[in-house]
Formats: sequence, structure tokens, C-alpha cells
Amino acid sequence: MTIILKRRLACLLTAALLLTTVLSAQIRPRLPQQVRQGSPMFVQVDTAQALLGVGARLVYANGTRSPLFPMYAPERVFRAVDLAQAALPQPIVSLGGGNQPAAPDAPVHNTWLLAVHPDAPPGPAVLQLLDAAGAELARASLVILPRDYLSEDITLTPSLTSLRADPDPVKEEQARRYNEILARVDPAAVYLDSPFIKPVTSERRTSFYGDRRRYLYSTGGISSSMHAGIDYGVPSGTPVLAAGRGRVVMAEARLTTGNTIILEHLPGVYSIYMHLDSLACAVGDLVPRGWLIGAVGMTGLATGPHLHWELRVSRIALDPEAMLAIDNFPEIGTMHDATEGR
Ligand SMILES: [Zn+2]
Repeated sequence: MTIILKRRLACLLTAALLLTTVLSAQIRPRLPQQVRQGSPMFVQVDTAQALLGVGARLVYANGTRSPLFPMYAPERVFRAVDLAQAALPQPIVSLGGGNQPAAPDAPVHNTWLLAVHPDAPPGPAVLQLLDAAGAELARASLVILPRDYLSEDITLTPSLTSLRADPDPVKEEQARRYNEILARVDPAAVYLDSPFIKPVTSERRTSFYGDRRRYLYSTGGISSSMHAGIDYGVPSGTPVLAAGRGRVVMAEARLTTGNTIILEHLPGVYSIYMHLDSLACAVGDLVPRGWLIGAVGMTGLATGPHLHWELRVSRIALDPEAMLAIDNFPEIGTMHDATEGR
């Protein structure tokens, strides 16, 4: 290698190092200091330029890592408003840089929506921001708080036992496709334009998020699982409304969950509606928040009429009502008139 080439290489490396240092110095995440298991969590970083391709993840006390959550390109998703500055503490930690003053021009509010796993170990955790190559740009610490989960036994009839326990290739294929849809993170899927609402007006909940369930089979067997959503015990035929503006990515009859709708709201963010009596939307529809998408029923594995409502962020089931409680959900840019649904 010639000396000139070597010098050029050294120059490039120095420039890259400088860039990383400058970038890191600007990346000062704002995040809540405490988050409960199974809850959503917003992280925000103000920079002069959008941090496209930068992902956020949580590393829990036992070393388990969450999936990488995408940054929502703020110019496309979030209106550049202060994301409830009052609710967000000031920058806590930055790598490689001191407390530099904010950029003089209007900063970009880079925003991530993360999901704290329902079984995340309570205690200290670390937030990491990683560039597209996986290099750490910033980290900050937070604390995961425990959540009280209820226990519930559900006695199944012989036909419901068979529905849950018997191997069935159709059921397996439906499960595979369901998981495939929920794993999809489509950067173009930006539909949400306002905070979520409840899909039914009732306050009558017959099961809660995170319930530890035991299914008691008619054969004497037992199986356990976590209840991933909330059940609202309302009469058959009760209107089911879209919790937020979104694209219908599933609207079909399934064996275990009955008539089921999945709405895609943001990249990797889905709401799910199960056991419906009837469907009032079809795959591909873009439905506004509050739009009638179906009616409550008891199709599939259900012991009475109810709506099962579930919310997933990067496949992790969150407490859907925790999303309602977030009053600092970022204002989302005005989209088209929401009248495209059927
Ligand atoms: Zn349920």
C-alpha cells in the first residue's frame, strides 16, 4: 500500500470516528425512569437530522434483549410537537459527549415506541440505541416495575377441549400465518393519526391482561398460558370499533379465535379483535378510528359472548389499556381524510 493510500485511509477513519463521536454527543435519550411490565414506553431524541435506521432495544437485568424497535420517521408519523415534555425527564446519559447545548435550529423529534415484555424481570434495565450496523450510539438506564397478574381457571367442555388440545394441521397453519403477520414491520405502514380508544364502551371486563390461565380439560388434563389481551363481557351483536386508524391485515374465521380482525397501525404495531359474531371489514380496508369493524360474538374458543382485544408492538402483547392511559401519545401528523374504509 502506498503512503498516500495509507494517509487517505487514516483520514477516512479519523473522519468516521469524529462523525460517530459527534453523533453520540448529540444523542441524549429522554425516557421514563420507571416502566411497568407489559407497558408501552416512548423514547425520544432530538437531533438536527432524523436518526433513520436507528433502532432501540431494552436489555433486562437477566441479560435478555428485547427485539429492536424501529424509529418512526417523525416527518411522516409524528407532528413536530413537544412530546409531553413535562412527562419526560431531561436527558439522562449520553455516550462519548458532555452536555452539549441543543441544536439552534428546530430539532427533529426522533421517537421510538417500545414494549416492555410482560415477563421482563423487574429491576434495573438498559435502553440501547443502535445504528443500522448494530453499533451502540447511546444508552440509558431505567427500572422495570412488577405488575400483579391474576390467576384464572377455565373449565372447557369436551368440544372446547378438543378445539384447544387436539393437533390440527389447519390450526397450525392458521397460527403460522397469524404469527407471520404480527412479526411484520413494514416501514410504510404509517396509519395511526390519533391516540387509541377502547373498541367497546363497556367497562365490564371478564378477563384482564396478563392473567395466568389454566385450562381445565374435560379429559382431566391442564394447560397454562398467559392471557395476552383484555376480555370485555358484552352482549353478542355489540358494535366493535377500530381502536385507531389502521389497515385491515386480517379479517377471517379462525378455529381457536373465531372471527378475527387484525389492524396494522404503525410499523410493527397491531390491534387484534377476537371471537366476533360478524366481520364488517375486509383485508386491505383503511379504517378510521372508531369505525365499525364487526360485532361481538362467541365464535372459536369462547365460553360466552365477549370481545378479546389485544395490542402488539413488535410481537410483544402489551396491556392495551396502558396505551389508552398514555396522555402524551405523540400527536400524529394530519393524514388524509379517514374515509377510505368500507
Ligand atoms: Zn381473551
